[in-house]
Amino acid sequence: MKSITSIIGQSSFSQSDLEQLLLCEGDEKQLLFKEGCRIKELFVGNKVYFRGLIEFSNICDKDCFYCGIRNSNLSVRRYNLNDSEILDAARFADENGFGSVVLQSGENSSSAFADRIANLVSKIKQMSNGRLGITLSVGEQTDAVYRRWFNAGAHRYLLRIETTNQELFRRIHPDNQLHDFNCRMDCLHSLKGIGFQTGTGVMIGLPFQTTADLANDLLFFQQFGIDMVGMGPYIEHSETPLYTFRHELLPIQERFNLSLKMIAVLRLLMKDINIAAATALQAVDPLGREKGIKVGANIMMPNITPGLYRNDYSLYENKPCVDEEPAQCKGCLDARIAMADGEIGYGEWGDSLHFINRRNKD
Ligand code: SAM
Repeated sequence: MKSITSIIGQSSFSQSDLEQLLLCEGDEKQLLFKEGCRIKELFVGNKVYFRGLIEFSNICDKDCFYCGIRNSNLSVRRYNLNDSEILDAARFADENGFGSVVLQSGENSSSAFADRIANLVSKIKQMSNGRLGITLSVGEQTDAVYRRWFNAGAHRYLLRIETTNQELFRRIHPDNQLHDFNCRMDCLHSLKGIGFQTGTGVMIGLPFQTTADLANDLLFFQQFGIDMVGMGPYIEHSETPLYTFRHELLPIQERFNLSLKMIAVLRLLMKDINIAAATALQAVDPLGREKGIKVGANIMMPNITPGLYRNDYSLYENKPCVDEEPAQCKGCLDARIAMADGEIGYGEWGDSLHFINRRNKD
């Protein structure tokens, strides 16, 4: 068995090295966290870049077994922000120096939806005089649709693979064409090929998930050459099928702890990527995202969805800040980042250095 100190000093990591890092506790864990922070500062600096998150609709065609806004959950009050509400939120981001926005929603593969997003992307670009960077996170689409949105001005895309263990993927999704692992993987390849800064991620602490699965997830990010990662703890939702397995789960604090370790280990593995401190971290610990920043993350996605709708984008229970208005959120963010020894990259895009580096190599 190697020591954590010696693994940390290596320039490459085997699956068993990664597992050992994910299992470390106590002083060794503190060492890992310190190293995650050190590598981050060395390679991407101590700036934290904001992506103002606009959860513009919770209407979803999919039925993922873990997700509170799944199609079959009839107790969700469905909403769909109109274009002017979305543009107002984007204007708020622009005026407050957020640099970028993320448009996220449930999934919809209609042509009307594709038209709407293309149009919204152009309008946001126009309204902000090209200042706002735009990330999309609206699920699986065809190559043609992704291309259209890229041409309209979106330049980053987030599509979590959720888990790279295909058997586990099948256990947490219905068994049909709408929920197909290979299709999701094809989408990621498509996005990368088109030229998007491509982001993915996994849920941490899913029922039946092992440490080896998580180590494989990390190796997948590396082998794929991903530019951005957003990952956080799985949080059970009582109105979902996966809730049946809540007794199989690690205690929530352990899922949180494991999520911080995943961030730190990923930073050692992929030094120049952008790593988001996911909102789900804050659902477990009020300072969860700041803790994520301290161990290796450099991106935060403050929720700027109008307060009226936030309660209804309930992917999991205890979602933070659901009753705040965006302006209230901003005030607390400055203090929070300073606490995590970070500096906010106001008005900057904060593109993934990994993306810039790979583009320069082509
Ligand atoms: N529909 C788009 C997609 O699937 O990419 C974007 C919205 S989807 C709700 C965003 C992410 O929420 C998913 O990729 C999933 O990882 C996460 N999520 C859903 N339910 C969750 C839960 N119970 N706990 C933690 N994360 C969850």
